[in-house]
Amino acid sequence: MVTYPVVETFHSLQGEGSWTGASAFFIRLGGCDVHCPWCDQKETWDARRSPQTAPEVLVEAALAARPRFVVITGGEPLLHDLGPLTAVLAQAGLRRHLETSGAYALSGRFDWITLSPKPYKPPHPSLYPQTSELKVVVAQPEDLLWAEDQSRQVPENRPRYLQPEWGTAEAPQWIADYILGRPHWRLSLQTHKYLGLR
Ligand code: SF4
Repeated sequence: MVTYPVVETFHSLQGEGSWTGASAFFIRLGGCDVHCPWCDQKETWDARRSPQTAPEVLVEAALAARPRFVVITGGEPLLHDLGPLTAVLAQAGLRRHLETSGAYALSGRFDWITLSPKPYKPPHPSLYPQTSELKVVVAQPEDLLWAEDQSRQVPENRPRYLQPEWGTAEAPQWIADYILGRPHWRLSLQTHKYLGLR
């Protein structure tokens, strides 16, 4: 039987990107080897710390929440074969979103893919054409160059977001100045953190 290391599940508003403000059921999977220095989910890195959970249990919890969509996040969820999990979510009629750094090839079937690439372990090339939205976290000015490089690889008609790293006080101003001269970008804020939501 397939199981997944689950750090937590919770029902809240999507805080970031194109779906900000929508009702979302989050499934946070354990395991990440990208190791961003500013990561706010370091407790997810070691998948062995998270209890193995069957997809059916996750679907039951998601259905009870009655969200607009389910977000599979992490950690880096593509460390796992997401095929069985997305199959049972689809059977239950649940819309499936993925939040990934893209460090590994895609598995599973999704309605929306947020690619949040990290320079510490760049995306698998197959992720770029499948990206629904690009979201680059800015923790230092050099990240804007990285963002532009990533943007060139994503289809032109997909939204592109720059998001300030929560602990970097100067990042919002760097981003604002940058977007004023490059209107293909938009600002994304972690609104759930400003509002004190999960
Ligand atoms: S990819 Fe995400 S979970 Fe992994 S280290 Fe970076 S911010 Fe943390």
